[in-house]
Amino acid sequence: MLFLTHLVVAAGIAVVSRLRAASSTGAAQQLSLPLGWLVVGAALPDLIDKPLGMAGVTELYHSVGHSALVVPAIVVVALADRRWLALAGRRGTALAVGWGSHLVLDAVHVIINGRPSDALFLGWPVVSPPNPPAIPPGEFVWFYLGSPSFYLEVLLWLAVGALVVWSLRRRASDTLN
Ligand SMILES: [Zn+2]
Repeated sequence: MLFLTHLVVAAGIAVVSRLRAASSTGAAQQLSLPLGWLVVGAALPDLIDKPLGMAGVTELYHSVGHSALVVPAIVVVALADRRWLALAGRRGTALAVGWGSHLVLDAVHVIINGRPSDALFLGWPVVSPPNPPAIPPGEFVWFYLGSPSFYLEVLLWLAVGALVVWSLRRRASDTLN
């Protein structure tokens, strides 16, 4: 999906998390996930992999940052050192949720655009897509406009926009009451 859409969805997750936190009470009180860390998590896969691909370090534009296998590795490291886990806390959770949302959206994109085998990027470096499109990220946008996944992105933007407006109105009416 387009880079900006990942950031927009991360903002949407932050709004949902804030609404859930606001409506939870007592022992079930939940803390909202910080927006900044959600956005960083959602941005990282492309910030890591696109430069690696363009520099020729990796063959694909989806590699280490887009691998679902990296997540269990991070969990193992975190569990091995509980001090690290405690330090990571809510920020680490937000980072992981943002990161995970990026992988899910990229997989949905290739599947609904009729290239399900491209979703094998999730298994890098154990498995990789048999014939991925070798189009640099900038040019890719022109191939992408008008594809089914592009319209899904438009819907995501509208949904997050509506969610933000609705939550701001709700907050405004709460302060009036
Ligand atoms: Zn990506």
